[in-house]
Amino acid sequence: MTMCKRCVLPDTFPGITFTADGVCNFCHQYDAQEKKKEEVKNDFTNENELKEYLKKFIDKEKKYDVLVPISGGVDSCFTLIRIVEEFNLRPLVFHSDHGWDDKEATNNAERLCKHLDVDLIIWKNELKFMRKLFKIFLETSEPSISPCFPCGNMLYLNGLEIADHFNIPLVVNGYSKGQVAMMHNKTKAVDWYTRMNEIVFDYGDMEFFEKFNRKWQMLNKQVIYQEKSDLEKPLEPGKILFIPLFVFKFYKTDKEVLKQICIERFDWKPLKVSFPDRTTNCEMIWLNSHRDMKIRNYTHYHDEYSTLIRAGEITREQYERMVDDLKKSG
Ligand SMILES: [Zn+2]
Repeated sequence: MTMCKRCVLPDTFPGITFTADGVCNFCHQYDAQEKKKEEVKNDFTNENELKEYLKKFIDKEKKYDVLVPISGGVDSCFTLIRIVEEFNLRPLVFHSDHGWDDKEATNNAERLCKHLDVDLIIWKNELKFMRKLFKIFLETSEPSISPCFPCGNMLYLNGLEIADHFNIPLVVNGYSKGQVAMMHNKTKAVDWYTRMNEIVFDYGDMEFFEKFNRKWQMLNKQVIYQEKSDLEKPLEPGKILFIPLFVFKFYKTDKEVLKQICIERFDWKPLKVSFPDRTTNCEMIWLNSHRDMKIRNYTHYHDEYSTLIRAGEITREQYERMVDDLKKSG
C-alpha cells in the first residue's frame, strides 16, 4: 500500500493522487490554501484580538451568550474553561449521551460545570433513535459512510436545536482542526449528506426516515465560521454562528498539555474507553472503526489526523500509533 510521505493518507482514500515526490494532492491543496490565507490576512493572530470580536455576543438581557457542547474529553473541557474565564461569555453547556457514552465522560462534564458554576443540559432522550441509526449504518454495504458520521451529525444538530430553543446566537465547541477541515469541505459534506439520506431511505422505515430528515432542517440556521471577516459582518436574525475554537492557529490540540490543564483544574478523569489511543467518549467507536477498516481500509480518523499532521499538530509517530490501534481492531 502506498501512503503520502507527509500526511500518511493511504492510496485507498477516495480521490487521492500523488506527485512524483510521494506527497498527496490533499497536502498540496492545504499548502495552497494556507498561502492564500496568509496573503489576505483574514485570520486572527492571538486570543486577545478574538476576545474583542466576541464581546458583541455578551447580552445582559439574556441568561446565556453562548452554547458550548462538551463531550467530557479534554478539547471540549478546555474550550469551556477558555470561554468562561478568558472570554467572559456566559455559557449554557450541553452534553449528549446517545446511549454509548462513557460514564466518566458525563462525570467530567458535570464536575467541570459545577467547578465553573455554569448550567448544564444532558440530552439523553433519543436512545431508540440512536440505536436504529447505528443498526442501519453498521448493516449497510455502502462503504463511504462510517457509522460515526450520521451519529456525529445528529449530536451536532442537537446542539443547534438547543441553541435555537434558548435563542442563543453562538455555538463554540472543541472540534479538532481535522474535524473542522472535514466540515469546511462543502462538496464532501453535501455528498455525505445525500448518501446518508439514501441509505436511511433504502432501509425502508419511513417513520425513521422522516425523523432523520427533519433533524437536518436545523442546518438552515447555522453559519460556520471560516475567516475573520465573518465576525465583522452582523449575524442575520435567527441564525446561529458556529465557531470551532481550535480553528484558530494559536490554539494547539496537544492532548497531553490539555490533559494536564484539565486534571489540575477540576480533577479530570481519563475515559475507560479510549480508542484509538487518544480520546473519545463513545463506546461504539471501536465497532465502527472495525467495520470501516474491514470494508474500506481507512477510517475517519485517517482523514482527521492527516489534517493534524499537515497543520503540525501531531507527529507522524502519533499517527502511526493510531493506525496500529486500528489494525488491531481489524
Ligand atoms: Zn498527504
